[in-house]
Amino acid sequence: MALEGDREELRVMAASLRRHVEFHGRAGIRLLPRGRGIERKPEETPGEGLLGGLEGNLFSDCAPASQAKSLEELRAAIGDCRRCKLWPGRTHVVFGVGNAKAKLMFIGEGPGRDEDLQGEPFVGRAGQLLTDIITKGMGLKREDVYIANVVKCRPPENRNPEPDEVESCEPFLKKQIELVQPQIIVALGKFAVQSLLKSKVAITRLRGIWHDYHGIKLMPTFHPAYLLRNPGDKKLVWEDIKKVLKELKTPSA
Ligand code: SF4
Repeated sequence: MALEGDREELRVMAASLRRHVEFHGRAGIRLLPRGRGIERKPEETPGEGLLGGLEGNLFSDCAPASQAKSLEELRAAIGDCRRCKLWPGRTHVVFGVGNAKAKLMFIGEGPGRDEDLQGEPFVGRAGQLLTDIITKGMGLKREDVYIANVVKCRPPENRNPEPDEVESCEPFLKKQIELVQPQIIVALGKFAVQSLLKSKVAITRLRGIWHDYHGIKLMPTFHPAYLLRNPGDKKLVWEDIKKVLKELKTPSA
């Protein structure tokens, strides 16, 4: 019986490790730093089980995010981050996905339930709509662009991230942008737009107009989740996306 129990435990560990490696593979991470072994005490776990424990320890001894020279190093530096109060409720730190040298970067608000479970941004219904915008609307592949969020951990009940959470996570996003060096950022939804532009102006007034984000052209538009509730506004997003496409085709972009 003990042997059977050991086999089952090994099988669960192997499955968790495979999911973990696949998740980082989708995020473009090919190498993982050497960990120090499983050290986290059971009472310290956020409740997500073995995978969370593995993730925390695989990344626990990395250089600070500010010194990261690549997305892999940045993800490693974020590690099992507990810098803000969102960490206990998450399943995964949802880092980002796509082309590490993309010309176009989409930035949303934060992970939802599906994203938290899968560890990848924009994979739920709203994510499918974003994928349609990228593929059917723009004629690109999802792998051609880079997709990230303002905060990397799911806010409880999908509430808006709070100012202290945004502030804690902001250095990671800034570093991500610095490493990807996109020529255009599309900010998705009121929250991402206002956070990036440090503005309180309504998205209805900000969208459709080019803004500057530290020298990068930024186009605000509605969040795909908003479009699911308000499909009539899809035409406005299409107008914004057409401006992005035009800019991408100009020689300087
Ligand atoms: S949201 Fe950002 S700062 Fe907060 S715990 Fe997650 S990764 Fe860390």
